[in-house]
Parts: sequence; C-alpha cells; structure tokens
Amino acid sequence: MSRSKNKGTAAETAVVRFLRAAGFTQAERRTLSGAQDRGDIAGVPGVVIEVKNCARQELPAWVAEAELERDNDRASLGVVWHKRRGTTDPGRWFVTMSGDQFAALLREQQGLPTPAVEERIVAYRSLGGRILRCLNHVPPEPGDDFVPVTSDDLPDGGLCTHPQCGVDVLIQRQGGEAA
Ligand SMILES: [Zn+2]
Repeated sequence: MSRSKNKGTAAETAVVRFLRAAGFTQAERRTLSGAQDRGDIAGVPGVVIEVKNCARQELPAWVAEAELERDNDRASLGVVWHKRRGTTDPGRWFVTMSGDQFAALLREQQGLPTPAVEERIVAYRSLGGRILRCLNHVPPEPGDDFVPVTSDDLPDGGLCTHPQCGVDVLIQRQGGEAA
C-alpha cells in the first residue's frame, strides 16, 4: 500500500471513529466501492463523505468528486471532510460543500420544503436554431430572433457557437464564470 493511500486510510478510520462517538453508530469505511465510487464512509444515510488527507488542497476538484459520488449513491448530500494540518482530531478538521448543498442542508434542518426546480436560462438560441450562445456571448441586443432556452430545451446539450468559445452551456456556471 502506498504511503498516500495509508494516509488516506488513516484519515478515513479517524473520521469513522469520530462519527461513531458522535452518535452515528453505523458509520464505517466503505471498502468495496464497485464500479462507481460512492464516497469513503458508509452508514450515514443520505450522505456521501469523501475524506481527504493531502498536503495540497484542491477544493474544487474534491467538491466535484463528492457531488459525483452523491449522484452515484443517489444521496441528498455530498461533502468533503479534509484533514487539517497539526491535528488528528476530525472534529477540528474542515467539512466543505457547495452553496447548493449547504442550502439543502439548511432546508432540511429547518423543515423547509424543496422549492420547485427553477427553470434557469442557460443560453440564447436563434429562431432557426443554428446559433446558440452561452450567457457570456449573448448578442448585446438579443431581439426577437433570439430566444432564451433552459436545459429542458437542450436534451442533447449544446455548445456556444461563438468563434472564441465553444463552452458547453449546460456545464457553464451561473453568473457566466468560466467553468
Ligand atoms: Zn460562449
């Protein structure tokens, strides 16, 4: 077993012990992940936990990994539990999740219903359908021949046709940031 794998295993074991002591008595390391990874810790229903013990922090990749595993597991929450330098106590490590996940967690805690999925505009398309523009490349005056489209309008996906772009409009982040 490699050293980094050993480190990872030790961190997972520490998180499991911590969770059990914290009342999650079913928590255990997920040893067989199968074809689709579903996180490192099993036994906390509805939650996927990806444990990280790395010198270098790569939060964006880690959070994306946790969310993919959440989808694989059909869980409601996917988080990264990452070791903090200088302490072996997982209670003092950090747990990171996306804002979407945090809001879902808060809704659950406060007993709020999940709002209906909002139809979000992801791009604009010319009426002929030939031109598709991501939100960064909407023509300044879209006019009547450009109509907003949501992901429902793009069952096969779509790429921005701007010559310098080509971004997948279903993956681009809200607010027009580059993904
Ligand atoms: Zn574009």
